[in-house]
Amino acid sequence: MRIGTPLSNSATRVMLLGAGELGKEVIIALQRYGVEVIAVDRYANAPGHQVAHKAIVVDMTDSVALKSVIEEYSPHFIVPEIEAIATDVLAEIENAGISTVIPTAKAVQLTMNREGIRTLAAKELGLPTSPYAFASTVDEVRKAISDNIGFPCLIKPVMSSSGKGQSLLKSEADIDKAWSYAQEGGRVSGSRVIIEGFVDFEYEITLLTVRSIGKNGQIETSFCNPIGHRQESGDYIESWQPMTMSDQALLNAQQIAEKVTTALGGQGVFGVELFVKGDDVWFSEVSPRPHDTGLVTLITQKQNEFELHARALLGLPVDPSQTMPGASAVIYGGMDAKAITYEGLEDALMQPDTEIRLFGKPEAFKRRRMGVAVAGGEDSDVARAKAYRAASKVKPTVS
Ligand code: AMP
Repeated sequence: MRIGTPLSNSATRVMLLGAGELGKEVIIALQRYGVEVIAVDRYANAPGHQVAHKAIVVDMTDSVALKSVIEEYSPHFIVPEIEAIATDVLAEIENAGISTVIPTAKAVQLTMNREGIRTLAAKELGLPTSPYAFASTVDEVRKAISDNIGFPCLIKPVMSSSGKGQSLLKSEADIDKAWSYAQEGGRVSGSRVIIEGFVDFEYEITLLTVRSIGKNGQIETSFCNPIGHRQESGDYIESWQPMTMSDQALLNAQQIAEKVTTALGGQGVFGVELFVKGDDVWFSEVSPRPHDTGLVTLITQKQNEFELHARALLGLPVDPSQTMPGASAVIYGGMDAKAITYEGLEDALMQPDTEIRLFGKPEAFKRRRMGVAVAGGEDSDVARAKAYRAASKVKPTVS
């Protein structure tokens, strides 16, 4: 592996497709290796734009525009950070040998659609998942629930993430409303849905799984310590690492993660989302990239998930070990306004082992994630309290 000089003929170029807060941290990690970074997002001054060599605004769902920007910069690596991308272009670019797609175009294609990844996980790999069915009409939904799934169950658009368009159904009476909501919440209208049986889990985790080049030159799989998290309306509110779990549950989780990431292939970090009850583990979803709940690793690991992604994609060795227990808590905009300011950081940062990251998003919304507090402590519970306190001290205001 050789790395050139940025902004010269020898540059090693990486193009981020999506330049939000997770992309921003990947870019910072790449910048530290002298990699030239081109950050693409659909709006100007996205967080990652602000730390990249080049900042491009493109609608990444537009195949023609996306292909043209890739051809213009001919990056060595393409790193998708979001799901709303014309993935057919990625497959074409990968096949033509123009760029390496991280982790693979197939992984990006399969995971952008719940149908693709669920079919791979449950049918091809035989991993434990909730009972599920797909439907294109409300009548198909009704039939799937009465024939197989039962109540309670969830309906989600297949082209959606983070709880968008998702409802929990308790009875027959909820079906019509859930169907309409799924049609509004999907990335594309007229969306197919997945119906999932409700898994009565004790807790859910993200198992960050890294595929990197090992000592013998072959791909190796390694795991970060499990991350526990709490979701509200499908959005993560806080996360902590490590999540205490039984040895058997951890082993089951690692085996599931290894199987699904091996099937997706390539190099990089994956966020494998799992439900756990006792020693039983169910596969839920996987992101073929760093995961938002993994923001906690900004404080807990020798190499955080963004550094691990950068190293893994460049073919460099990784160390996913943890240095201290820690937690993250989200800082929301709390208002709809542009160019907001943040107060209270001096108070938030008074605690030891505490960091605040403000993403620099140009526009705030009430429930938009604008920053995160991360804190370390002697155990995950202490760290959670510290992260929560730090996040609550940061006050978004309008100047
Ligand atoms: P998702 O958008 O699929 O990641 O779902 C968001 C959150 O909803 C998950 O993190 C879980 O807390 C919850 N959830 C999703 N699917 C199920 C399920 N089948 N059973 C129970 N809870 C679920």
